[in-house]
Amino acid sequence: MHSHCSKVNLYLSSLLNNKMRLLWQILYLHPARVRRSSSTSAGVVNFVPVCSSTDSTSRKLLQDFVSRSTRLFVITGAGLSTESGIPDYRSEGVGLYARTDRRPMQHAEFVRSAKSRQRYWARNFVGWPQFSSHQPNSAHRILQRWEERGKLNWVVTQNVDALHSKAGQKRLTELHGCAHRVMCLGCGAISARGALQKRFLALNPAWSAQAGGVAPDGDVFLDDEQVLHFRVPSCEDCGGTLKPEVTFFGDTVNKATVQFVHDRLAESDAVLVVGSSLQVYSGYRFLLAASDRKIPVAILNIGSTRADHLAQLKVSGRCGEVLSVIQPL
Ligand SMILES: [Zn+2]
Repeated sequence: MHSHCSKVNLYLSSLLNNKMRLLWQILYLHPARVRRSSSTSAGVVNFVPVCSSTDSTSRKLLQDFVSRSTRLFVITGAGLSTESGIPDYRSEGVGLYARTDRRPMQHAEFVRSAKSRQRYWARNFVGWPQFSSHQPNSAHRILQRWEERGKLNWVVTQNVDALHSKAGQKRLTELHGCAHRVMCLGCGAISARGALQKRFLALNPAWSAQAGGVAPDGDVFLDDEQVLHFRVPSCEDCGGTLKPEVTFFGDTVNKATVQFVHDRLAESDAVLVVGSSLQVYSGYRFLLAASDRKIPVAILNIGSTRADHLAQLKVSGRCGEVLSVIQPL
């Protein structure tokens, strides 16, 4: 009797497992669009796009994917930092493209036009106190712990917000540079953005008091008259033009940096994309390289990405929420 019951139970549980699997597959393939209530506190603008809750199968598959890897290569993008209050460019409804007429600075325009640089730095100066105060969120901290436990081979980020390094990530390449550093286009010297803020303040003592209008997301509204009076310092060593040490649109990532990242990828046994739509080629090329090398790819992102067809697993969800239930075993 007992043995019969066990058999039935076994049969039932296998039937149930199959059914669940089928249900999971359906859920996975056709995720219901659930409007999640915002988890941010009142008064804080929410830049995390609306997304469906991640089903348990996706989570389990992602757990299996991470467990199988011993040298994980992680690519992160703007989707990771939205949970820290930094808006991304492309998300439906909440990204900068959707909300404002702001477009990223073009490299050629910055180099060519003193007026453009003046406008850029004036906005950057006003937005800096808030931008520089953003803190890493749970997703950054989790990736740092994975590094500590030896799970991670390398992290490549397309973000320039320094949140990975603030979280203590060491095995890290900032593919597009970092807004916390400034470089001289004349002599190539690198300096701290914080030091430049002091020079801005010294050069524009009255100006800073007039500039108001900083939106909660760090968007800065300045009229032409205000910008006209903003004084931009040049390199203290050579008098050259100062530029944030970030890759503007239309510029290319340093070849040595790209090769270095390819080398780290070649040592890795799996690629996990976290919070990037991979629309920009500089990040997407590593997915192409992973595909060439037959390295398995999983993507955790809200919304579709350019590399969905290259991934064996696609999980839609908030980075911090999903990563927090994954064990780096
Ligand atoms: Zn210089």
